[in-house]
Amino acid sequence: MLGFGFSAEQEAFRAGLRRFSLDELLPHYSEGDSGVYPRDRIIRVIELIGEVDDADFSFVSAGIVAEEVARGDFNCVLPSLGPFTFREFISQASPELKERWLPGLQSGKQMIGLGLTEPDAGSDMGSIRTRAEKRGDHYVLNGEKNSVSFLNADVFYVFARTDPSRTDWRGLSAFLIPRETPGLSFHAYDDMGCRAVPRGQLFLDDVRVAASELVGSPGGAFPMIREFFDLNRAFIALKCLGAAQQTLDETIEHVKGRKQFGSPLSSFQGVAFPIAEAATLIEAARWLAYKVLWLKDQGQPCDTEGAMSKWWIPKICTEIIHECLLLHGHYGYTRELPIEQRLRDVIGWQIGDGPAQIQKLILARKLLGREFSP
Ligand SMILES: Cc1cc2nc3c(=O)[nH]c(=O)nc-3n(C[C@H](O)[C@H](O)[C@H](O)COP(=O)(O)OP(=O)(O)OC[C@H]3O[C@@H](n4cnc5c(N)ncnc54)[C@H](O)[C@@H]3O)c2cc1C
Repeated sequence: MLGFGFSAEQEAFRAGLRRFSLDELLPHYSEGDSGVYPRDRIIRVIELIGEVDDADFSFVSAGIVAEEVARGDFNCVLPSLGPFTFREFISQASPELKERWLPGLQSGKQMIGLGLTEPDAGSDMGSIRTRAEKRGDHYVLNGEKNSVSFLNADVFYVFARTDPSRTDWRGLSAFLIPRETPGLSFHAYDDMGCRAVPRGQLFLDDVRVAASELVGSPGGAFPMIREFFDLNRAFIALKCLGAAQQTLDETIEHVKGRKQFGSPLSSFQGVAFPIAEAATLIEAARWLAYKVLWLKDQGQPCDTEGAMSKWWIPKICTEIIHECLLLHGHYGYTRELPIEQRLRDVIGWQIGDGPAQIQKLILARKLLGREFSP
C-alpha cells in the first residue's frame, strides 16, 4: 500500500523540532560563520530527540531531524543525527570500540571525522595511498588526508591501505584513531561556507594504533563505507531541502509584504512563478529523499535512490536559494539575512560525499551495466 505521510507522532516530533530550530538555532546561525562550533546547541537538539519514544527511531524520523534542524542551522545537522546514524557509521567496529565511542558521539558531546579523501584520491577513492603497516599487535600509519570535515573531532575514522599489493579499493582498511594519538597533525582550510565545521588536512606521521582499533575486516573497508554513503546521501539531501524550504518560506513572507509599483511583489507573475516552481521541486525532491530512508528502514537496497538524491537535490536547493536571494533584492545580498550564508553552506554539499558526476556514474553503471564504460 502506498502512503505519503508521517505518523501523528512524527508530525508532533517535526513540530517540536521546528519550533526549537526557529527559536533557538536560527538566531545563532550566523555565529557559525566566525568559526564557532555549535556544540551546546547540538547537544540540546539530541536531548530533544531523546525525549521521543524509542519506537519512533526510524531513519525516516532521522530525515525529519535533518530537514527541521537545517531550517535553523545547517551546520548542526550531521552531528544531531548521531543517535540515528553513528551506530550505522561504525557498525562493524568491535563491541569495545563501540562502547568507547558511541556514548560521546550519540550525545553530541564528541564528534568523529572521516578521513577518506587524499591529494591524489578524491572521486577515485581506490587511489588512497595512506599506508597502514602491520607491526606485531600494532599498525603504523603514514600519509595525508584532505578535506576532513569536523577537523575538531575527538576521533578520526581513517581509511588506509593495508595490502600494498593492491592498488584499488580492495586493499583498504579503516581505523578509529583518537585525536590525541602521537603523530597526528592538522591544518584547517579557510572555506567559503559551512564555517562552523572546520574542514582541512590530517597528516599521519608514524601513527601507531592498536590492531584492535581496526574496524571490520582487513581490506574490507570500502564496501562498509559505501553502504553508509547510500544512507547519508538522503540526509545531505534533506538538510539542503530544509535550508531551501526555510528560505522559500521567508521569501513568500517578503514578497507578500514588499510593495513596488503600488502592488505587493507577490502579485507579479515574474515573482510568483519562481516560487511556484521552487515549491514543486522541493515537494518532488523530499519524497525521493524520504524514499531512500524508507527503503533503508525496510532493509532494502537504496543505492539507486541515494545517488539520484545526491546529484539532484543539493543542486536544485542551491538554485532555489539563489533565486530566493534575488527575490529579496539587495537585502538578500547582505549578511543581515541568513540567505547568503545558506547559499554558501549548501554549495559545499554539491561536492561533499561525491559530486554530481560521480553519482551519475553510479547510476549509469546500474542502468547501462557493461555497456557503460567511461
Ligand atoms: C563540504 C565538504 C565536506 C567534505 N567532507 C569530507 C570528509 O569529511 N571526509 C573526506 O574524506 N572527504 C570530504 N570531502 C571531500 C569530498 O568527498 C571530495 O571533494 C569529493 O569526493 C570529490 O573529490 P575531489 O574534490 O578531489 O574532486 P575530483 O575527484 O578532483 O573531481 C573534480 C571534478 O571532476 C569530476 N570528476 C571526477 N572524476 C570524474 C569522472 N570519472 N567523470 C566525470 N567527472 C569526474 C568531479 O565530479 C568534480 O566535479 C568534503 C568535501 C566538501 C566540499
